[in-house]
Amino acid sequence: MRLNPFNTGNINVRSSGGGGMGKAGGLGCGTIVIAALGYFIFGMDPFQTAGMVENVSQSQQQAGPANTDEQAICTSGPYATEACNALQSLNQTWASTFQDQGFGDRFQQPTLDLFSGGVRTGCGNASAAMGPFYCPSDQTIYIDTSFYDQLARQLGAPGDFARYYVIAHEYGHHIQTVTGIADQIRSAQSQNPRRANQLQVLMELQADCYAGVWAGKNRNLIEPGDIEEGMQAAAAIGDDALTQGRVSSENFTHGTSAQRSEALRLGLEGDDRRCDAIVNMG
Ligand SMILES: [Zn+2]
Repeated sequence: MRLNPFNTGNINVRSSGGGGMGKAGGLGCGTIVIAALGYFIFGMDPFQTAGMVENVSQSQQQAGPANTDEQAICTSGPYATEACNALQSLNQTWASTFQDQGFGDRFQQPTLDLFSGGVRTGCGNASAAMGPFYCPSDQTIYIDTSFYDQLARQLGAPGDFARYYVIAHEYGHHIQTVTGIADQIRSAQSQNPRRANQLQVLMELQADCYAGVWAGKNRNLIEPGDIEEGMQAAAAIGDDALTQGRVSSENFTHGTSAQRSEALRLGLEGDDRRCDAIVNMG
């Protein structure tokens, strides 16, 4: 995608960590807590599920001191620059979508934390091994850009659009948070624990769909091969592909490769209201 370069002051960016687990301090315990939560509640293997750990536990903690020098962070490498450009584009697209639909006052920009190693978040401590995630408590998207190398090499999903899809998916969780859909899903999950995984899958598929909506609304910036890269990434991070039979389908938390590709494709049509049908809380 040919995204416009970000303008200073348009985006909320910070960078936490920087020295791996040791330097960030005190991470071990909390990381295990989140990993265990992921494993027991969402049926995940925390060490094999890059990209699957999201909406982690709600325990409140202060974010550690972070670098907030936007220029320095966004020019620290090609992945960082891409992420900053994408964040600006996502902000613009979603702000105008909210405006068009009469919900302009609800829109809030998320923060992007390009952390490395380990990070303290409003949802507890996290490590890069967990893959990108969104924390609703501090409305922040956390990405360790080394995940993008893993996405290309280990998961077989290279290309800039695959990387944009990751951040646009996490941004989708932010949209779910500011619209209140995320809260509705959480309360439905606590009322009906047996459906918790199923509801989690719907939430993830809607985030995939929202990722597609962003791209679909910026169709003029899409280059040949982008859509294929996105579809390849969606297929690579389906629960069936990631877990390869080690987790039964009722314990899936993000949807199968086919479901994720379909959700992204639906979003690419460019109408976010079609994504809302995925999660019908009626
Ligand atoms: Zn997600």
